[in-house]
Amino acid sequence: MSAYHPLNEKEAIQIARSLEGVFAEGAELTSREIGDGNLNLVFHISDPVEGTSLILKQALPYAKVVGESWPLTLDRARIESEALIQEGKLAPGLVPAVYNYDPVLALTVMEDLSDHVIMRRGLIEGGRYPLFAGHISTFLANTLFFTSDLGMNQQSKKLRVREFINPELCKITEDLIFDHPYTDADTNSFDETIRDEAQVLWNDGELHLEVALLREKFLTQAQALLHGDLHTGSIFIKPDSTKVIDPEFAYYGPMGFDIGAIIANLLLNYAARDHWDADENARRDYRSYLIGTIREIWTQFDAKFRALWEENKTDRLLSSAPGYKDDYMKRLLQDTVGYAGSKMVRRIVGLAHVADIDQIPDAKSREHAQRLALSIGKQLIKVNRKTASIEELIQIAETSA
Ligand code: ADP
Ligand code: MG
Ligand code: MG
Ligand code: MG
Repeated sequence: MSAYHPLNEKEAIQIARSLEGVFAEGAELTSREIGDGNLNLVFHISDPVEGTSLILKQALPYAKVVGESWPLTLDRARIESEALIQEGKLAPGLVPAVYNYDPVLALTVMEDLSDHVIMRRGLIEGGRYPLFAGHISTFLANTLFFTSDLGMNQQSKKLRVREFINPELCKITEDLIFDHPYTDADTNSFDETIRDEAQVLWNDGELHLEVALLREKFLTQAQALLHGDLHTGSIFIKPDSTKVIDPEFAYYGPMGFDIGAIIANLLLNYAARDHWDADENARRDYRSYLIGTIREIWTQFDAKFRALWEENKTDRLLSSAPGYKDDYMKRLLQDTVGYAGSKMVRRIVGLAHVADIDQIPDAKSREHAQRLALSIGKQLIKVNRKTASIEELIQIAETSA
């Protein structure tokens, strides 16, 4: 294979053609770059006659951040394809199949999921996915349990940690989630109408202590292999299927970071409903759908994770010490709450926002959603170490709206 260079649509076709057993000899293939273009190229290659198709995702050696290009390691393509393969084994059917990985071109060939929709878009449009909580709780329980010291050989785990050392991508998270929103950083981005809220964030010592503790845990705790970027834009969905994509931020970190990411993104959508549901009844209904989903995700995750632990007693003491399981699950819930809050705050004042809120055209309505998301996010961060039940998170959301 030739040296690394960003592919064009024609070259993407040539590569797709060279994969055995996918496209018929001499088929007329079409190629379309469908990525957002900030970090990666995503090519959709198809044979419209046969209806066969593939996705080629190629990492770019830089990221476009605040108008500048920052160098960014191509190694994240290896991490992404490796994480997808691991997740596919541990949570069958919940990630796209990986067909090939080319380390020189930093290129992953995978299953085309174009018959699904990106969940963020689906939620904005008021879609309901009754199977989602079951699917994502299985994804979380299986991937987190079986990559942790509870569910795998502890010597092999240390070697796996080494395979997923991901310093450059972790630094993006450390900066954009666990630092910049809490100081007047250049990368921050928010509407001037909520500058007062940003200034409160910059000067709230109680909040800074909690964020420091969450940051410390993100920096140091190699608890399990995380997806690392598990927002609703990294989930493809349709009524009967859920597929998690885009694990380029994968590394060994605290489990609550992934669980919190999902919940945060459901709550960001919750905060935006005043705009997306004009009718009050529809809004109440949709919000209670979102809250029910959050409750189900935690409850099912808790039950599935404990069941895996009962079935797999890899570590004698950790499986038998009285009260240890309950203590572990309580700390996991507390981390989930803290990380959910951090993920909400960064989406309002930090560099990268969410369409659920940014695409609200009316400035007043947008500001309302932003203040609501910040209020919920800050409360979650502040209560995280005292939380004993998912109902406390739900109550914060419901009493704030
Ligand atoms: P990035 O890391 O640049 O965010 P993603 O993996 O999230 O890249 O992909 C960006 C977009 O490309 C997705 O939002 C989706 O529209 C499209 N895409 C990515 N993977 C697939 C896939 N397997 N099937 C269909 N479309 C995909
Ligand atoms: Mg993107
Ligand atoms: Mg993405
Ligand atoms: Mg990505």
